[in-house]
Amino acid sequence: MCKVELTNKEINMITINSRIYKFCPYCGKALKKKIEESKARQWCTDCKWIYYPHVASAVGAIIVNDGNVLMVKRGRDPYKDTWVFPSGFVDYGEHPEETLIREVKEETGLKVVEYQYFLLLQTSDDPRSPGHFSIFYKVNNYVGSLINNDSEENKDIRWFPINHMPIIGWKSHNKVAKLLFENLSNR
Ligand SMILES: [Zn+2]
Repeated sequence: MCKVELTNKEINMITINSRIYKFCPYCGKALKKKIEESKARQWCTDCKWIYYPHVASAVGAIIVNDGNVLMVKRGRDPYKDTWVFPSGFVDYGEHPEETLIREVKEETGLKVVEYQYFLLLQTSDDPRSPGHFSIFYKVNNYVGSLINNDSEENKDIRWFPINHMPIIGWKSHNKVAKLLFENLSNR
């Protein structure tokens, strides 16, 4: 297991503003404001629905093999043409570990056999889903053969030595690559 130590400064907690809704998504009535536990909330006076803004979650897979790590090249924005760890959003009702297994299969063709939790980061640079949590797992063992299963999302898929990584888009993925490299150098 990699030993990861972060200071608050390095975590870079971010501030995001939630979207304002005008109408109740259930009955269509105009939402009103109310104060609940000293916070302003939007709510529906008819069906009593209260809007609690929340962020999404995503999972990134650090698939390692003999000092190499598997990366995919993004085929669409954001960060088109940069490299990332195979990753994707957690589906509704899905556990992040299920997301890991599903995404790795979808994007690489590999079947995850052994994995461990690595790191959780708050993503600051994804306009599609501001402030979402990225949960990274390290995949230590897998079976199957490598294929670019998801050519719509990914242009290319390739192994890179941890000390010679390609250009990575997402800040959170960059951070993980840096930690992997530091971990390798400290061994
Ligand atoms: Zn309503």
